Amino acid sequence: TPLTNIRAYAETLSQGVLDDEQTIRECYNVIMGETQRLNRLVEDILNVSQLEVGSARLDVGEVQLDKLLRSVVQDTQGAADAKNIDLVLSLPAKVPQLRGDKERLAVVMTNLVGNAIKYTPAGGRVDVRCVAENGRVRVSVTDTGIGIRKEDQERIFEKFYRVDDERVSAIPGTGLGLAIVKETVRLHGGAVFVESTPGQGSTFTVTLPALAVDESATSRTVKV
Ligand code: ADP
Repeated sequence: TPLTNIRAYAETLSQGVLDDEQTIRECYNVIMGETQRLNRLVEDILNVSQLEVGSARLDVGEVQLDKLLRSVVQDTQGAADAKNIDLVLSLPAKVPQLRGDKERLAVVMTNLVGNAIKYTPAGGRVDVRCVAENGRVRVSVTDTGIGIRKEDQERIFEKFYRVDDERVSAIPGTGLGLAIVKETVRLHGGAVFVESTPGQGSTFTVTLPALAVDESATSRTVKV
């Protein structure tokens, strides 16, 4: 766990036996990295438990979904570039508007796009699409990644569940992201589901109640 590492490296430093500048700096780097990891874990745990006990407050307002998705794609572009993954956002002619908590919905989308990038080998592709249908808006994130076996597809939405696969354990994660996604989407009156073929890729789809449609928009594919 992060705490074990922080303690071990801090103990070594406090003994004052290291005289090599480089090694000392590496120790501090490990402590800093592990502190960040611990911070993320604590934030995720607080977030998921708040959602579960029903004490999470939604700061509800009008959400401009196109703006939200653009910003999520922009924020994750660096991670995609680092793996040479093509990250493509497609928006419909009529951009649906939502009522919801835009910070929390951004966390939902960031988790899904972040996972798609994490679990897709270098050189792959991630598509973020958005369509309006029957008063609902449907956002899907499709990747060409490792995929998820049928028997894991329900379980990945459980807290702390990570698929038992070395391509997953090689990547840092808390197993809490999808639990947060599921609960947040439910609180918004929506749903999330996954379709996947192992070895070919996955599509995560979120459906949310739509508020209205912006008639003035034109269809576009955005490469950020
Ligand atoms: P984390 O990514 O921190 O492990 P999540 O709750 O976001 O936690 O995801 C749970 C598990 O679901 C992951 O550990 C991984 O096994 C699987 N998973 C999630 N998204 C994908 C994806 N796009 N492709 C393949 N596996 C995925």
